[in-house]
Amino acid sequence: MRFSGKVAVITGAANGLGLDAAQGFAREGAKVLLVDRDADGEAQAAALRAEGLEAQFIAADVSRDADVRGYVDAAVQRWGRIDCFFNNAGIEGHVRPLHEQDEAMFDAVMAVNVKGVFLGLKHVIPVMLRQAVGSIVNTASTAALVGSAGLAPYVASKHAVLGLTKSAAGEVARQGVRVNALCPGPTDTRMIHSLEDQAMASGRNDVAERYMAAIPLGRYATPAEVTAMVLFLCSDVASAITGGQFQVDGGRTACPGGSA
Ligand code: NAD
Repeated sequence: MRFSGKVAVITGAANGLGLDAAQGFAREGAKVLLVDRDADGEAQAAALRAEGLEAQFIAADVSRDADVRGYVDAAVQRWGRIDCFFNNAGIEGHVRPLHEQDEAMFDAVMAVNVKGVFLGLKHVIPVMLRQAVGSIVNTASTAALVGSAGLAPYVASKHAVLGLTKSAAGEVARQGVRVNALCPGPTDTRMIHSLEDQAMASGRNDVAERYMAAIPLGRYATPAEVTAMVLFLCSDVASAITGGQFQVDGGRTACPGGSA
């Protein structure tokens, strides 16, 4: 019960990595606020309450300043503080060469993946500074560390998440607030299957095999394996860790060719 008495706010919590982390925080004692633009988050919060855990849902678009103020205020009004913030919501955009990407989807990817992370930091950091303690994990990706043909807007957005993370970490470290970046590799959620489907729709039927071949471990990570890193970074034993980038990628960035 590493998070007894603590408050955790998680964006993108209706599905995938955010949902798994919300369940992990709640089952380790935290009061959790699930934030998502997908109204299914209400049912996910209700399922946690049915387990006897403390969980609430608020619908919000992380790319809108008023919505971000809304979820931060909701957590503070209900529980008085925010100890852990998993700044996680993101979208993948289109899989196609850069010269075929369209401006509207580029803007949408930047709005959610970069502006959404920026606004979350902007509004949560003052709460944590008042408490003089807090831990933030921003979801980047291995696409923040290396390029990915066909995903230029997504890759650019995730590189930007590292820039936000490193700068914010330096600004608030002396006041007790830690900020780290999570870099998952391909993980078994809706997003990775959307990327596979998009690639297959353009004739690349071997996309899943090619993804797997580039992962030394030979498989996608599970959401639970990623949650383990998020909870570690938010826990008290990670007290000297800030400004870092943490891969959970089965060796993909260390050895991108996979195994022989
Ligand atoms: P997912 O699609 O299962 O979940 C993403 C969630 O974010 C959804 O619930 C969606 O409704 C929500 N969301 C999207 N835009 C939003 C907005 N504007 N406001 C509020 N909520 C919004 O995908 P996932 O795999 O769980 O992705 C979570 C994060 O992990 C993303 O930032 C993604 O880029 C990152 N990531 C995923 C993988 C992977 O392979 N799955 C790998 C690296 C990084």
